Amino acid sequence: MRYTVALTGGIGSGKTTIANAFAARGVDIVDADVIARQVVEPGQPALAAIRARFGENILHRDGTLNRAALRQCIFSSPTDKNWLNALLHPLIHAETRRQLALTQSAWCLWVVPLLVENNLQHLANRVLVVDIDRDTQLTRTIARDGISREQAEHILAAQATREQRLAVADDIIYNGGSIDDVTARVALLDQRYRQLAGATDQD
Ligand code: ADP
Repeated sequence: MRYTVALTGGIGSGKTTIANAFAARGVDIVDADVIARQVVEPGQPALAAIRARFGENILHRDGTLNRAALRQCIFSSPTDKNWLNALLHPLIHAETRRQLALTQSAWCLWVVPLLVENNLQHLANRVLVVDIDRDTQLTRTIARDGISREQAEHILAAQATREQRLAVADDIIYNGGSIDDVTARVALLDQRYRQLAGATDQD
């Protein structure tokens, strides 16, 4: 399998910015959030199963999944939550493996916001954590999403802590500085991962 680096970090830490910088260097990207949406698109068996269990109201009029309604259902029922996880996790896992296998670059970047929360670190060859101080993280999230400080703090509180992420990191990008700083760090890491991927190929 392609040498895979998992990129994770909290909301507003800079995952998208950093993934774009790697992509600009020719690194293929697989995005866990995109896959989580793809497996429940209209026409996918998972959406039919969800509709069969929760009824027509779980869909929007255009036939797409009403995520807010689904969240509400599983919030009030642990049984439904377990059922949904049992349905989706194997599908997400299989689709992730499929997309990783299709990548062509020397190594590939798997962007996984909930890597630590879902304990997925063992699926990658290496874990790259975007680290950031809390104040900068809050300021950037508030500016990007147009939410209140209280809302941003609420989201942060529901995520893994900075310490939990750092505990699984092989490499760290500190993104509290400028875009130029982070782009330079991306270039160095890209070189390093090309070397590591090459060494793995020869094994
Ligand atoms: P994530 O994908 O982790 O939620 P983003 O990459 O979207 O985070 O970054 C959050 C916000 O902060 C975006 O508006 C982005 O443009 C901005 N940003 C990211 N890195 C920097 C940086 N080094 N300097 C200034 N702004 C940044």
